[in-house]
Amino acid sequence: MAKLQRVRGTYDLYGSAKKKTRQVERIGEEVAEKYGFEEIETPVFEFTEVFARNLGDTSDIVTKEMYCFSDRGGESLTLRPEGTAGVVRAFVENGMQQNLPVKFYYHGPMFRYERPQKGRQRQFTQFGAELLGVETPQADIELIAMAYEFLEKLGLAGEVTVEINSLGDAESRDAYRRKLVDYLRAHYDELSADSRERLERNPLRVLDSKEECDRLVVENAPLYADSLNEASAAFFAQVLAGLDLLGIKYRVNNRLVRGLDYYSHTVFELVTDKLGAQGTVLAGGRYNGLVEQMGGGAVPGIGWACGVERLAMLLEKEPESPRPVAVVPVGDEALPAALKVAYELRRAGVPVEQGYGGNLKKRMARAARANARAAVIIGGNELAAGVAVVKNLDNGEQKNVPLENIAGELK
Ligand code: ATP
Ligand code: MG
Repeated sequence: MAKLQRVRGTYDLYGSAKKKTRQVERIGEEVAEKYGFEEIETPVFEFTEVFARNLGDTSDIVTKEMYCFSDRGGESLTLRPEGTAGVVRAFVENGMQQNLPVKFYYHGPMFRYERPQKGRQRQFTQFGAELLGVETPQADIELIAMAYEFLEKLGLAGEVTVEINSLGDAESRDAYRRKLVDYLRAHYDELSADSRERLERNPLRVLDSKEECDRLVVENAPLYADSLNEASAAFFAQVLAGLDLLGIKYRVNNRLVRGLDYYSHTVFELVTDKLGAQGTVLAGGRYNGLVEQMGGGAVPGIGWACGVERLAMLLEKEPESPRPVAVVPVGDEALPAALKVAYELRRAGVPVEQGYGGNLKKRMARAARANARAAVIIGGNELAAGVAVVKNLDNGEQKNVPLENIAGELK
């Protein structure tokens, strides 16, 4: 059977849905640039190693979600499942450590082999930001504030909650891991099969589990906050104080650990209750060990990424595009004049709806469908007088305007 259909989990975006995703990306760019971030574009595929090494070999992404393939030269390549690994690879490879801090934003397609459902696709778009080279909580506060303002500008601030937690430094993380493993071992029989396996490989991930039986166990698990050493607790307190100062509301969620291995200290998610199980629209955290792991020296980093389609689904209406002007020739002899007027209007910045055929009635109906604000009607009489009828389609008023003044009149 011929497969002339889109692959499961991929979508054709057009019309209102495309306008909404574009709006999300545009506002993201605008906000990020205001915060001093510059755009970076890294390749859509990388050596598999770039992701396998960085995301950790126990993460869901690496164990079951990557699109890997061998190219004709026999290299193992992977379609990028997320943006941070590629940005950090580019940072190290281009020697950007010389000029810190480095602040990048990006957007583009990501690929994950997941079970498709509402808000979960196999090709989706992320918009993300990374800040490299700042060790202090100022960076954490700035990134969360930027994420919050981004959603505010999209009109979604009222619908999302900032959830935040601290994983602390390596010492705190080890201490917590030990306590958690002891606790989970004592409840081994109650855990799901997946979580029993996680217990050995990456116990923190059990906290993330969506299985009901795991959730019951996790409810009484030791609290992360009790394992933070003094320095880590002080760092987290400063991040929260910064958010308080800016009036950004948050909820400390002790169970929030995030799926990737590279996080330390602050992790956060912006969550809505509108998308069911796919309620996380934006997520991020600090990754102080990642650059070093890539061979780039001890450069701290922090970043976030959001699902552009998930955010677009929350937008009630698409952004309004400017209303066009319809150019309406009556009879073939008016076509050249209409062509010229349309060209001049467009060059003057006026969007033009140009009917490609049909009589006056058909063309006026099309103008109404396009929500045109005015029609420029050019018939035989007008042509002879070197004018066109400019009709305001909202109030029906009309007047004759010399052909060469039309662009000026409608600008
Ligand atoms: P989830 O728990 O939903 O699987 P995640 O932890 O895998 O999310 P991240 O890797 O942190 O997600 O990606 C950041 C954001 O990208 C998510 O919050 C979400 O909005 C979006 N995202 C992730 N995976 C998908 C997907 N398969 N389809 C659409 N959007 C996605
Ligand atoms: Mg996932």
